[in-house]
Amino acid sequence: MGIIEKMRLDGKKIFVTGGARGIGKSVATAFAEAGADLAIVDVDIAEAEKTAAELAENNHVQAIAIKADVTKPEEVDAMVAKVVETYGRLDVAFCNAGICMNIPAEEMTFEQWKKVIDINLTGVFLTAQAAGKVMLKQGSGSIINTASMSAHIVNVPQPQCSYNASKAGVIQLTKSLAIEWAKRGVRVNCISPGYIGTELTLNSPSLKPLIEQWNAMAPMGRMGKPEELQSVCVYLAGDTSTFTTGSDFVVDGAFTCF
Ligand code: NDP
Repeated sequence: MGIIEKMRLDGKKIFVTGGARGIGKSVATAFAEAGADLAIVDVDIAEAEKTAAELAENNHVQAIAIKADVTKPEEVDAMVAKVVETYGRLDVAFCNAGICMNIPAEEMTFEQWKKVIDINLTGVFLTAQAAGKVMLKQGSGSIINTASMSAHIVNVPQPQCSYNASKAGVIQLTKSLAIEWAKRGVRVNCISPGYIGTELTLNSPSLKPLIEQWNAMAPMGRMGKPEELQSVCVYLAGDTSTFTTGSDFVVDGAFTCF
């Protein structure tokens, strides 16, 4: 079997949080194109259902939509149980849901701080933990978490200390889980994208006006596209990455190189 065939994900059962739109939808599309059956998990169930229907129709795979808020342990557990009930197993978890708030540190309320940490860091822990429990029993599985280049640098000019701290936490959480589960067949990696054109960036009133400044700072002079994160995630989900765990894949057009 050639390398491209080996990279296919035929029959793998995968859930994607924040899968209704943006990076989650784009990566879920690649998983479906590679032959996987999907569960699209999001708080926006209407959009998740549209995405699931689109993926199933275009790729002749199964795709279901599940409403779950990643900050709520009972919803995360019910979501993972639904995936296993539907598909009989869980091969890959893409723990990707996240938000950003741009608020100066001295003005940030406790609730604002907590919301970002709860979704971006605690949400990834709860989702990876629930997926991990199933995968450890199976003796196999791959977990991919979405960190950010903001885990490596402090983005300017926008003030986003809670986001940066949450994403740095995702990298160390990823490495910790990778070590704990390394001998038990469960791999845990993360991706650290640079600026990517999605609703989080393009339609955010506070971030949209900054795009020209970011592009001026970017070595490639542009933001990334969600499709430019697909291949690394297909690699991490599949069976050609069996020696890859505890790694953070920076995909940022060299933004963090200087
Ligand atoms: P989007 O806002 O386009 O999509 C995120 C999705 O996650 C939305 O559908 C959102 O629903 C959903 N979501 C939000 N909160 C929760 C929750 N508590 N439980 C379940 N789903 C939730 O964002 P992106 O695709 O841009 O971002 C995806 C991930 O990539 C995030 O973790 C982000 O931090 C990270 N990232 C993004 C970068 C970028 O430049 N875009 C760069 C680096 C990392 P709703 O819209 O209804 O709230």
